[in-house]
Amino acid sequence: MTSILIIYTGGTIGMIESEDRQTLVPFNLKHVLEQVPELKKLDAKLSSVSFDQPLDSSDIEPEHWMAIAEIVKQNYDEHDGFVILHGSDTLAYTASALSFMFEGLKKPVILTGSQLPIGMIRTDARENLITAVEFATLQMHDEPVLQEVAIYFEDMLYRGNRTKKFSTEAFDAFISPNYPVLATAGVNLNFDFNELYRADEEAFGLSKGFDNRIAVLTLFPGITQQLVESVLENEMLRGIILLTFGSGNAPQHPWLMHSMEKAIERGVVMVNVTQCAKGNVEQGKYQTSVGLVSAGVVSCGDMTLEATLTKLMFLLGQSGDTAWVRDKMATNLRGELSVN
Ligand code: ASP
Repeated sequence: MTSILIIYTGGTIGMIESEDRQTLVPFNLKHVLEQVPELKKLDAKLSSVSFDQPLDSSDIEPEHWMAIAEIVKQNYDEHDGFVILHGSDTLAYTASALSFMFEGLKKPVILTGSQLPIGMIRTDARENLITAVEFATLQMHDEPVLQEVAIYFEDMLYRGNRTKKFSTEAFDAFISPNYPVLATAGVNLNFDFNELYRADEEAFGLSKGFDNRIAVLTLFPGITQQLVESVLENEMLRGIILLTFGSGNAPQHPWLMHSMEKAIERGVVMVNVTQCAKGNVEQGKYQTSVGLVSAGVVSCGDMTLEATLTKLMFLLGQSGDTAWVRDKMATNLRGELSVN
């Protein structure tokens, strides 16, 4: 019998109405598990642990990513898999952050949540929780089928660091625009075995540390020099994500190029992510991105903003060596980046 640890961090899945019945507030794990007696029927030994204070995922910070990772590490040897209950709003960030922290992960770490609280009649929480646990129990040739950080939501199992929250309304709230779905849940649970991640490292390890001295600068038609300079000349910053147009393009103002060059000379790691959900950055394809190449902006290819942001914070948290961080940003570390 496989042994699964459920880690409850909060989110809509466990929420109930506040006393004035105006808002939803996080509630305790006992409430969540009581709503799903079917879990007992699964051929798995389940145990659970909860954040002392369950959180709406908008309040999740890097310290919480590290706390979740630490729980997995402390329980790694005694369990075959982990299911993390988490709010959907920042789920893609947490999944991405976890993927970078774990090295040599050989067990499933599946995050899930829901759009409606677990006590509601039409809730999606019960199915998401039950199927996430079921996916976590699956073994083949005495080893877990899934050996990576994934998100399960409404019939789909995704690579965590490829996802985005896409809908505030639909039950299938997530997309994985640049990577295939890892598995689907219909009558059967069907894996796409070719797409599963396998770590090269032999031993399981955890590296913690995030540096949040970064900024995301969204480019838009009409962006002013003052705004750009207020960000790029900020001495506190160690990393800047430029959210660009199309395949990585930017307006060709000389002041924009000049500010970027100065920031990069100061040692800021500047990276390029596209505002398009699908597709990738191809610096140099258009005249409007040639200046970014010569300024030294690193292309993030087809990485999501969520993966880029957590990867940048993680790498800056591991080393002060800017050249190393730039090199790793452009390298596929955990299946987050397609290499052409
Ligand atoms: N605000 C909630 C959260 O992210 C939304 C959800 O769980 O779906 O915690």
